[in-house]
Amino acid sequence: MKVEMHMHTSEISPCAAVRAIEGVREYKKASYNGIVITDHFNDYVLNGFIGSDREKVARFLTGYEMAKEQGEELGITVFFGIETCLLGAQNDFLLYGLQPEFLYEYPKLYSLSIKELHQVVGEAGGIVVQAHPYRGYCTIEDPKYLDGVEVYNGNPRHNSRNHLAKDFAKHYPHLIETSGSDYHQLSDLASGGMIFPRELHTETELKEALLARDYELIQ
Ligand SMILES: [Zn+2]
Ligand SMILES: [Zn+2]
Repeated sequence: MKVEMHMHTSEISPCAAVRAIEGVREYKKASYNGIVITDHFNDYVLNGFIGSDREKVARFLTGYEMAKEQGEELGITVFFGIETCLLGAQNDFLLYGLQPEFLYEYPKLYSLSIKELHQVVGEAGGIVVQAHPYRGYCTIEDPKYLDGVEVYNGNPRHNSRNHLAKDFAKHYPHLIETSGSDYHQLSDLASGGMIFPRELHTETELKEALLARDYELIQ
């Protein structure tokens, strides 16, 4: 099963240019079997929405929901994910294995410290993967608060210095390695992702396959 691990929708991520349903169609055409929607969940995005915390979270989830609906129509599995950035810092973290409802409990997830983030995500059955840690504006976090590192980020508009991320992950055996396209534009299609030897249906199964290192990276 070929899965895009890092995709944005233009409905939610201000930096993205492709609508949820269009993105799903593109991945279907590119013969992927799954996509994780990882829209940006940070203060900038959430402050741009109106209403209560609950309403803001509901709005945030619409990108994922539209993608999921389109995926069901086309026969491509859409998983829920998050890319968050914590207040006062520029590092990005991909969260896998969570249910969308998790955000109603933590509508201000981005105000946590990395230590707290790792704790609450873990308690909810998810994992924390630092995205593109060697981009110019990023710094690698303390690996004790990480479950994995995105060692391959295919986005062509950034120099993610993937080889450094790979070297880092090798030094910490508990860290899993992931690959994703960081899809924002049509031209980002299928520049990364992961191949799992079996069919995965839920966020939990995806997380378990990740932790079991039962995959190959597209890089
Ligand atoms: Zn973005
Ligand atoms: Zn991203």
